[in-house]
Amino acid sequence: MATVTPPVSDISAKPSSLDSIDAIPQEGQTINHDGKAYTTIREGQAYILVPHGIPTSTDPKSSKEEVERQQVFYNPIQQFNRDLSVLAIKTYGNDLVQRKTEKHERYRAKAQRLAERKKAKTVETKVEVPPEAHPQPDDLSLKKRKLSDHMIPGPVTSGQDTDAGKKRCLADVHDSNAETEPLRNPPSTGNGHTPRVEELQKPAEWKPAFTILDALSATGLRALRYAQEIPASTSITANDMSSKATDSIRLNVKHNKLESKIQANTGNAIAYMYSRIEKQGYDVIDLDPYGTAAPFIDAAIQAINDEGMLCVTCTDSAIFASHGYLEKTYSQYGGLPLKGEPCHEGGLRLLLHAIASSAGRYGMAIEPLLSLSIDYYIRVFVRVRKSPNEVKLLAGKTMIVYHCDSGCGSWSTQFLARNKAKQNRDGTSSYKHSFAAAPSADQHCEHCGFKTHLSGPMYGGPIHNVGFIQRVLAQLNEAERSVYPTYNRIEGMLRTALEEITYGAKSAETTEDGVTKQLGPIIPKSDPAAIDDWPFFFIPSAISRVLHCQAPSLAAMRGALRHAGFRVTMSHCKPGSIRTDAPWTAIWHILLEWVRQRAPLKNALKKGTAGDVILAKGSSFAVQDNANPNPVSSTDIVNIAKEDPSNPDNADLSAAETNQTKKTLPSYLGTNFPVEFDENLGRDHDRGKYVRYQLAPRENWGPMSRAK
Ligand SMILES: [Zn+2]
Repeated sequence: MATVTPPVSDISAKPSSLDSIDAIPQEGQTINHDGKAYTTIREGQAYILVPHGIPTSTDPKSSKEEVERQQVFYNPIQQFNRDLSVLAIKTYGNDLVQRKTEKHERYRAKAQRLAERKKAKTVETKVEVPPEAHPQPDDLSLKKRKLSDHMIPGPVTSGQDTDAGKKRCLADVHDSNAETEPLRNPPSTGNGHTPRVEELQKPAEWKPAFTILDALSATGLRALRYAQEIPASTSITANDMSSKATDSIRLNVKHNKLESKIQANTGNAIAYMYSRIEKQGYDVIDLDPYGTAAPFIDAAIQAINDEGMLCVTCTDSAIFASHGYLEKTYSQYGGLPLKGEPCHEGGLRLLLHAIASSAGRYGMAIEPLLSLSIDYYIRVFVRVRKSPNEVKLLAGKTMIVYHCDSGCGSWSTQFLARNKAKQNRDGTSSYKHSFAAAPSADQHCEHCGFKTHLSGPMYGGPIHNVGFIQRVLAQLNEAERSVYPTYNRIEGMLRTALEEITYGAKSAETTEDGVTKQLGPIIPKSDPAAIDDWPFFFIPSAISRVLHCQAPSLAAMRGALRHAGFRVTMSHCKPGSIRTDAPWTAIWHILLEWVRQRAPLKNALKKGTAGDVILAKGSSFAVQDNANPNPVSSTDIVNIAKEDPSNPDNADLSAAETNQTKKTLPSYLGTNFPVEFDENLGRDHDRGKYVRYQLAPRENWGPMSRAK
């Protein structure tokens, strides 16, 4: 909820011409309204008024104070978030319109059949209907409600009120009186009579309601863009608790000529969303606060429709992605943060956990569609559906993480419960839910022996839906680059996110050349029981520091993993990251082979360090000295590596010695596949084709404190 500083008027520096608020909006135009002058900025297809004296572009030299003032009215850095949100909501909207239209068609066909049957019966038999067979008032109201469910004649201007009698997804959970609520707005032709089915059978006039709530709207830019750029949207509410903000929203709505589509509401977002509990909810709710969205989540769940989409931003990375205030992380998100490199991915999973556990209380299950860590904030798009059966899977999809944060950086995960699929006699399948075994990991890291720490609980299912990302990419493909200046970055980030799930495998919806085929509007549902066994990435340079060795190139490390049959991709969260389904024993085995084959240690590691303990677990060199039963230390490894024939420095060693080495494969904790650092195999052909990561556009760039 933004508080808005009073607009700075700067009439003294009056430009040559001032337009009134009724003028056609244009970029750079100066608007004079109520004695104040504003500059018009265009973003996407919407225009936003910024009072004179407030900077309107990203200037690296801007002072902190200037930036803060600017952020209240227009924050250019958040354009990526807004561009992405427009595309995501548009994609979701296509799905929603298709579903509602199909439902409407089914109802229409059924109503027509009934009408025809009734007509035929009346004509053929001419039997008088006995009085008790006439519909009673109660039946009538029920039928009316059913009609209103599906029939919204004519253009809809305030969708969330039009079908107020519709059974809300939460109604049966809360035992609300939604079912008995009088029908406030039955379909009417305007002359007082309820329309006959024939009158309603005009598909051209019918448009499904598609309602959006911008719950923390500030100056309303998101709402303006959704109204302009998402043609399927029928009604958008822009809410802010500050009346100055809603005044500013109304002014912008008027300027953009969107009064018929956007309603401004002054109120506390939480109270407003709870107030929708017994009324029609929203199809999309966007939470874009300064700081954390955690306090708004439960209320948003109350106000979202069944099969609706929540869009949630959190900018408090000091809480969700840092261990400095772990007690605060727990109270906000219901889980403990992850330390070190994958902390932002941990933050995404904590936020999903917070949403899933809130929703679960009301029999609502979540399906993450897209979850991104962007610069200093996180943004998730989540489909929410009423499904008590899917909610039962949640404990088995929620995990804790044992993280060796002070030693080698490896981690292992444990799910809180088990979901076991079983086949029923009638051929359907269901799940049996049971307790998980007590701690699955030792207190000490199995690799380096250091103490591990506990993180989570957090969401352990897949964090994206492949079909959704493919459809957003298709939307992007049709978008104009001039309207979406963040086009390249959106494309790069979406492709990277997609590969986190597919590992680059071509799906059935992709042709041989990697071109996405024509996609239907319906977003396929992900497997609700799926879990992510390898949720976090690692960074080759970071694990190389543990062994104090020169780091392998990304291509070499990826090539070695692929050569051994593991899948490899990168994480959108961090440049230089590797996301793989290889277990940590395989990763350390490869790195030990890197040391043996390519990067012999120059100095022995200090006794008792994480690297020293890991090296001692590798058998690679002990095989040459079977007489010595004691485990080798890194001192031995330095000496042996000097004699290793596969070390390019030792090319003059005899062939006999080389054969001797090949006889027994080096192993690490029982893992002994042959390791080849095949850089060609490790390279992706489209690498460099997309803007996958972006550097910060200005100095000291980061989250701003909440506007005063
Ligand atoms: Zn460790």
